[in-house]
Amino acid sequence: MTNWILGLTGGIGSGKTAASDYLASKGIAVVDSDLVARAVVEPYQPAWSAIREHFGDAAINADSSLNRGWLRQQVFANPDERRWLEQLTHPLIRARTLEMLAAATSEYVILASPLLLESGQQTLVNHTLVIDVPEDIQVQRACQRDANNEEQIRAIIKAQIPRPERLARANDVADNSGPLNQLYEQLNRLHQSYLDLAKAHHSHE
Ligand code: ATP
Repeated sequence: MTNWILGLTGGIGSGKTAASDYLASKGIAVVDSDLVARAVVEPYQPAWSAIREHFGDAAINADSSLNRGWLRQQVFANPDERRWLEQLTHPLIRARTLEMLAAATSEYVILASPLLLESGQQTLVNHTLVIDVPEDIQVQRACQRDANNEEQIRAIIKAQIPRPERLARANDVADNSGPLNQLYEQLNRLHQSYLDLAKAHHSHE
């Protein structure tokens, strides 16, 4: 039996975590692509060893974790190094994601990913839910949460898929410009429809 998979995405500060936490509270398993990306480079994992061999010890912190800031600078400055790192990590991330999606046992499973639409991960999901807010609210909420300034947040938004394109690629959109209880009301309705879709999916197998 294959799981029915909901891809959950949205721009920075849109409320992806708020939405996935809420659906998780209903017993739905959430696979977080950021956590998977970190897991494949944990100390002494094959990708960690390959990175140390390729970049040298400068890539590794004293506690054996990856020096992400240093690595980010290397790949930012050098597209070949970026490609090397992506060719190493992307297949591992994809394989681990597939494993975790398959292992989950809830009625449906969520793949939560900020880069669902940018990274080709949409091919892994049956249905896509976008959490949407206007750009000014994204900036305001992301600034409040992190120490980032407005300029940094706007630069990240520019690097992400443009809002109209994101919305065009969604099967469902939840508007999170109001208070959280309005987001939750929308999610209650969507959750019911996902239970139905997952049931139909399983009965066709
Ligand atoms: P990122 O991609 O940056 O990790 P995200 O899409 O996961 O962000 P959240 O972390 O869920 O977004 O929300 C961003 C911030 O806005 C958080 O501090 C969260 O508590 C707050 N927030 C989310 N939804 C609302 C809302 N409806 N009203 C007020 N604050 C909200």
